[in-house]
Amino acid sequence: MSRIAFIGLGNMGSPMAQNLLKAGHELVVFDLVQDAVKRLTDAGARGARSARECVEGAEIVVSMLPASRHVEELYLGDEGLLAVLNAGTLVVECSTIAPESARKVAAAARDAGIRMIDAPVSGGTGGAIAGTLTFIVGGDASDVEAARPVLENMGRNIFHAGASGAGQVAKICNNMLLGILMAGTSEALALGVANGLDPKVLSDIIAKSSGRNWATELYNPWPGVMPDVPASKGYAGGFGVDLMLKDLGLAAEAALHSGSSTPLGELARNLYSLHSASGNGKLDFSSILKLYEK
Ligand code: NAD
Repeated sequence: MSRIAFIGLGNMGSPMAQNLLKAGHELVVFDLVQDAVKRLTDAGARGARSARECVEGAEIVVSMLPASRHVEELYLGDEGLLAVLNAGTLVVECSTIAPESARKVAAAARDAGIRMIDAPVSGGTGGAIAGTLTFIVGGDASDVEAARPVLENMGRNIFHAGASGAGQVAKICNNMLLGILMAGTSEALALGVANGLDPKVLSDIIAKSSGRNWATELYNPWPGVMPDVPASKGYAGGFGVDLMLKDLGLAAEAALHSGSSTPLGELARNLYSLHSASGNGKLDFSSILKLYEK
């Protein structure tokens, strides 16, 4: 078992950290929100008052933060962790951030003798709770293998996408598709209901027909069609609209960088942007369905 520091205990980080505790690791945790730390200390972790205190003596550091700027600040900022981590520490950075940002922090880590992989996840809060996440990893193969046992305590599928930053590129492609699929699924359900169909009946039909996808199988956006998904809980928890908007922005940047055309990704980005600007940024992204409400 390892001594693990876990930083960022939000919708994803909290259940991921719980699974590391259950696996028997010695866990020290930190988040800017006190209540988030308390949930983990109640479950048996030790709470820290700062990120630097959290990583004291850690063999492995896991971070799960909102976006690039939070990750760069945590590792490279004035109180940055790279200045205090022991050489040889393994950093598993799970946030979804820009590939250039992941490469920049990993390069600085390498210069300091610290091993770092980008390991963004897919599977949503349900996957985080169940310990069935998919990890999409970029970095040196030996570091990926060193992290594998810990990743297996939180997830079921571990893919090595390539060198540093490659995990983020793959994750961004996946989430661009997810944003498009959720908007498309909402559009189709709203069309069916407006034409007299029951949303549950239509969802069951699509789930066994050629339009089936992750949203219709596991994360239906129509309230009441599936139990325990954000749509049936007032779109609380889950994956925030603003986080999806961030990922669609990362996809747009990647497209610009490589000269790729992503018209559907851009359309989805505009839809989520409109939805966020109407005050829905903190709701789960499946609330995009509200855009289609009559
Ligand atoms: P969240 O907003 O629920 O949690 C982020 C947490 O980080 C918050 O508790 C916040 O207080 C904390 N935090 C921010 N800055 C910090 C700092 N400097 N030090 C310590 N704590 C800090 O977000 P989330 O839904 O858990 O998502 C986290 C990451 O995972 C994002 O990059 C997101 O894109 C990605 N992701 C989310 C989902 C999902 O379904 N929610 C799925 C896959 C990937």
